[in-house]
Amino acid sequence: MPIDPTQPYDDQNIFAKILRGEIPCTKVHEDDHILAFKDINPQAPTHVLVIPKAPFVSWDDFSARGTDEQIAAFVRGVGEVARMLGLVEPGYRLLANIGLDAHQEVPHLHVHLFAGKPLGPMLM
Ligand code: IMP
Repeated sequence: MPIDPTQPYDDQNIFAKILRGEIPCTKVHEDDHILAFKDINPQAPTHVLVIPKAPFVSWDDFSARGTDEQIAAFVRGVGEVARMLGLVEPGYRLLANIGLDAHQEVPHLHVHLFAGKPLGPMLM
């Protein structure tokens, strides 16, 4: 079920539980501000989720209320994961689902990183 973006942050969401270590994940990278882990239902040979550790649901809220340090760390972190995984060539795709129309299912901001095969033209 997609989330209702008008609701406040739910600290029982699955990524909050992963961040607290209550649920396991296959970790790819971690620093003070971000965690990157493999998607449990991969849609490409490489399918990694990158999340800020701070409790934000949406990109718009994160960009409005996140600190410059948190935002910079997230942007840099996504790029670092791409470099670490050797994806710079031949490339990768980033995707963020935000809110109901985008069918965001987990109410903790995340970027999907897809790679490992020709991904074709961008789909709606
Ligand atoms: P969304 O539609 O952008 O919110 O996508 C949520 C993603 O989280 C989906 O691709 C799920 O497969 C993934 N996911 C859900 N639970 C877990 C988990 O426990 N570990 C890793 N990925 C998960």
